[in-house]
Amino acid sequence: GLREWQRPLREQFPIITGHPGLAYLDSAATAQKPRAVLDAVQAYLTGCNANAGRGTYTWANRTTALIEETRERVKAFLGDPDPERSSVWFTGGTTEGLRTVARDWLVRELADGDEIVVPFADHEANHLPWLEARDLLAERGVRITVHPMPYQRDSRDYDLEALARLVGGRLRFVAVTHVHHVYGADMNVHRVREVVGPDVPICLDAAQSVGHLPLDLAALDVDFVVFSGHKAMALPGTGVVWARGRRGGAFRPGGWHGTPNTAGIVSLRAALDWLDAAGPARIEEWTVGLGVRLTDGLARLDAYEVLGCPLSLAADSAVQRRQGLVTFRHRTVRANDVGFVLAAHGLLVRADGLCQARAGESESSVRVSLHVYNTPEEVDRLLGVLSTLAGDRPGGGRR
Ligand code: PMP
Repeated sequence: GLREWQRPLREQFPIITGHPGLAYLDSAATAQKPRAVLDAVQAYLTGCNANAGRGTYTWANRTTALIEETRERVKAFLGDPDPERSSVWFTGGTTEGLRTVARDWLVRELADGDEIVVPFADHEANHLPWLEARDLLAERGVRITVHPMPYQRDSRDYDLEALARLVGGRLRFVAVTHVHHVYGADMNVHRVREVVGPDVPICLDAAQSVGHLPLDLAALDVDFVVFSGHKAMALPGTGVVWARGRRGGAFRPGGWHGTPNTAGIVSLRAALDWLDAAGPARIEEWTVGLGVRLTDGLARLDAYEVLGCPLSLAADSAVQRRQGLVTFRHRTVRANDVGFVLAAHGLLVRADGLCQARAGESESSVRVSLHVYNTPEEVDRLLGVLSTLAGDRPGGGRR
C-alpha cells in the first residue's frame, strides 16, 4: 500500500530523521531535501566545481554539461512536447522568474491599447510583476489595460465563463497559478487554453505544483512555466523559467551572463530525478490524503474555520481538488499565538501573512502544507494540539 511506499522515502530526508521530535509542516514555503540531492551537491563541489563555459579544462566543461543536462531534465520532467524548440532559464525562484517574464518579455510584446489578465488574489509574485510591467510601459507612453482575473465566489477557482468574456478585442496575455498557495486549490488551469484560444500567451506559476503532482505540458498548453527549485527539493536560490519555442524565441532575459548558481542547478537535476523516481502521482495521492485527514479533523472543531473552497465542494473532485495545503483560522486566538503553541509542541507551520497583496483574509491564518515525508501521525498530533486550543468537546461535530 501507499504507507509501505512512503516509509522508506521519508527515511531519505536526513533533516526529518534527524529531528524525531519535530514535524515539518511548511513545505509550501520550502521543501526539505533528500539525501540524493545533498550527495549530488557534495559530489559536484568536491569533484568538479568550476565556472561554466569559461575554460578548456575538464571541470569547466563538466559544469557546462551539467547545466545543459539539467535544462533537458527540466523539459522531460514537465512533459515538454517540443523540447527542441523550448528554452529553460535558471533563476533564484518563482518571484525572480515571474519578474523576468514580465520585464524581459511582456514589456516588449505589448502595444498601446493591449489588455492583460492578472490574478489579483494569487501570490503577490504572480500579481505585482505584471502591474510593474504596466507601469514601465506607461512611462514610455504605452497604455495597457489590466483586467483582474475573475474568481468564483464559492470554489475560489477561476471563473472561466467570466474570463471568456474578456477574450477577443486586445487580450494579449493571461497569468494563472496552478495550485493556490493559501487555498490549496488546484485552479483547473488545463481549461484556460480552451477559453482564451490558441493565440493568447499564458504564464503558469507552478510554485506549488512542481513536486506535488504530475505536470503535463502537452495538456496544459501554456507558454511559460515558472517554479522554484527550492520548493521542489533542490537547494535554496534555484528556480526555473520554461518558455515554449513559439514564445521562447523572443524570450531573452537580460543579465544572464554572470556566474550561474551551479550547485543549485546540479541540485535541481538530482531533485527532479528523485521526484520522478518517487512518482508525482503517488506523492499527490499521499499528500491529498493527509490534507483530507486534516480538513476532516478541523471540521470537527468549532473553533476553526478553513479558508477557501468549502469542504463540501472540495470533497467533490469534479468541482475542485484540494491539494495537501490547508489554511485555517481560529475564531478567537490570533494566528501568531496558535503558531507559537504549535511550535512549542514541535509542529512547524506557517503562521503569519501569506503574501497576498490583495486579500485580508489570509492575514491572520495558519497554513499547514504537506509533502511526501509527512505522516498521518503528524497530522493527528497537530489536530490533538489544535483541539486543546479549541475548547470543543472532543469529537464534537459542527458540520
Ligand atoms: N508563487 C506561489 C504560488 C508561491 O507559493 C510562492 C512561494 N510561497 C511564490 C510564487 C514565490 O516563490 P519564491 O519565494 O521561491 O520566489
